[in-house]
Amino acid sequence: SFVNPTAKSTCRVLIVGATGFMGQFVAEASLLTGRPTYLLVRPGSVSPSKAKSIKNLQDKGAIILHGLINDKEVMEKILKEHEIDVVISAVGGAKILDQLTLIEAMKTSGTIKRFLPSEFGHDVDRADPVEPGRAMYIEKRRVRRSIEASGIPYTYICCNSIASWPYYDNTHPSEVVPPLDQFQIYGDGTVKAYFVAGTDIGKFTMKTVDDIRTLNKCVHFRPTCNLYNINELGSLWEKKIGKTLPRVTVTENDLLAAAAENRIPQSIVASFTHDIFIKGCQINFQIDGPQDVEVSILYPDETFITLDECFNDFLVKVDRKSISTDEITTTSPMAESMAITATCA
Ligand code: NDP
Repeated sequence: SFVNPTAKSTCRVLIVGATGFMGQFVAEASLLTGRPTYLLVRPGSVSPSKAKSIKNLQDKGAIILHGLINDKEVMEKILKEHEIDVVISAVGGAKILDQLTLIEAMKTSGTIKRFLPSEFGHDVDRADPVEPGRAMYIEKRRVRRSIEASGIPYTYICCNSIASWPYYDNTHPSEVVPPLDQFQIYGDGTVKAYFVAGTDIGKFTMKTVDDIRTLNKCVHFRPTCNLYNINELGSLWEKKIGKTLPRVTVTENDLLAAAAENRIPQSIVASFTHDIFIKGCQINFQIDGPQDVEVSILYPDETFITLDECFNDFLVKVDRKSISTDEITTTSPMAESMAITATCA
């Protein structure tokens, strides 16, 4: 049934933004669960890399539909014709308000059992970054209020940071390996954050979509095994590459100045970096409100991929020639990198 968290679900899922960074993880995870998975792809030409990822998802069973979420008529037709139960949006930061039209279409259709808007970060009602990040949060809050007023059942995914080196000027840091020359340490490097593998963001997102316990809730991702500050993150990477790297401090003022430059999207990332690693926006509140649930408490038998394992994957990506062997300080860096690490539940 739709409400039983243990029953196998056959609900029909529409994913918006599956050609994007976060949406791909969600689409892959939806297909893995065996749910009928529809992907809304923007009409028109796509880049070769996006075409390849669409083909890959199609090969796994995804059904491609063309349309824009800000086209109400098209969306109403799609939702009705395909009897969509669950809509998950992963539109990018610049398109957050496009979701207002989608909400109108879902309201008219009246059949949507769950909507997950494009969140996939912090709890935007609690966190309050400096500009220009704040402008994006104001839009995400506006979308939340519109959903709540519409009566459409919803779940907000607050998955915190994607597992990677948190470069302060890169929107998709997990596509880049951690530094090989020097670490930029934000402030004193002691403020902790949660790092979640992209595949786990997808996996746990899909667990919530027909779970009664996540109905009209904020789902926080706080896997204790992946709580690191940036000094610890640096040490973890040093162990993997088998050498120590110089550390330079990026001060609070440096981050604020990068945010104030108002270069989009880099300055948005700088403002979030300031919020996470200076202000502690992921850890400075308790998740005990009536709207809050936490994934590792909801699904205690599921394991999280550890950041340690993610860094092993980055190590594989690193061009070995770029690590000069005469600088290696540990006796057996590869043995270290291959060690099997425990996953945390
Ligand atoms: P991307 O820009 O990578 O992808 C956006 C996707 O939405 C693309 O597939 C795009 O299609 C599609 N899209 C945009 N507008 C429309 C529309 N009107 N109709 C239909 N499809 C549309 O986004 P991200 O993955 O970077 O961001 C997704 C969410 O994840 C955001 O809320 C962002 O804040 C969050 N995020 C969180 C991170 C974290 O560490 N926690 C890191 C990065 C993002 P097309 O391919 O045609 O352009």
